[in-house]
Amino acid sequence: MKIAIMGAMREEIDPILETVGNYTTIEHAGNVFYECTYGGHELVIAYSKIGKVFSAITASVMIERFHAEKLLFSGVAGGISKDLKIGDLVMASALCQHDVDITAFGHPFGFIPEGSVMIEADKSLLAIASKVAADLSVKVKEGIIATGDQFVASAERKAWIEATFKADALEMEGASVACVCHNFNVPFFVLRAISDTADGDAGMDFDTFLKSSAKVSAKFILTMVEHLGD
Ligand code: SAH
Repeated sequence: MKIAIMGAMREEIDPILETVGNYTTIEHAGNVFYECTYGGHELVIAYSKIGKVFSAITASVMIERFHAEKLLFSGVAGGISKDLKIGDLVMASALCQHDVDITAFGHPFGFIPEGSVMIEADKSLLAIASKVAADLSVKVKEGIIATGDQFVASAERKAWIEATFKADALEMEGASVACVCHNFNVPFFVLRAISDTADGDAGMDFDTFLKSSAKVSAKFILTMVEHLGD
C-alpha cells in the first residue's frame, strides 16, 4: 500500500526521514517529496510549509501525483484540554477550521456551505492507533483538533476555540488536510504531540519543545505504519 506521511515543518519530518534511511527525492509543485519503502509499504513523505493553503496543496499532490491510498499527518500542536501536557499525544477524531467565519449569513462558526463544521478521521486508522498505543503503553488522547491560519498564543482565543468547537488541541494544517482527504475519499489520520499550550507563553514553549515533541509524534506514526495491513 502507498502511504503518505506529511508534516508542516522540516522538524516534523526529519525524524521520519532519519529512521527510514534510503529515499529518493522528487521536486513537484513547489515542494520536495521523499519516496521510500518502510514496514512493507511504499511511503511518500513531505512537509508542506505552515498553514491551511500549503498543507492542502501537499496533501492533494500526495494523492493525485503520488497515488497515496492513506494519509498520516505527524506534527505538533497547542494543547487546549487540561489532559494534554507538553509532549503528550493527541489524535483527531474530527477536525474543524476555527478561523472560518461567515456568521454574518447566519451560518455557525467553521461552516462553509456544502461542507460541514467537522470532518471525521478514519475510524479504522484510529483503531490501529489505539492498539499501537496500548502495545507501546503510550497514552494518546482522542479529541477534536481545531485548525486555523493563526499561531494561537492567547488565553482568550484559546478559550473561545474550546467553547465554540469543544476542541482539545489546535494547530494550523489538520482540517485542511482532512478536507482534501475527505474530498478525494482517502482515509486519513492526524496525530500531534503538544509543543505548547496556546497561551501567553506559547511562542517560547514552541521554540523549546518543537523538536522533542515532533520526535514523539514521528516515532508513533512510524510504528503505526509497521502495523498497517496490506
Ligand atoms: N516558529 C515557526 C512558526 C511556527 S507556527 C517559524 O517561525 O517559522 C506553529 C506550527 O506548529 C504550525 O505548523 C502549527 O500547526 C503548529 N502549532 C503548534 N502550536 C501552535 C499554536 N499554539 N497555535 C497554532 N499552531 C500551532
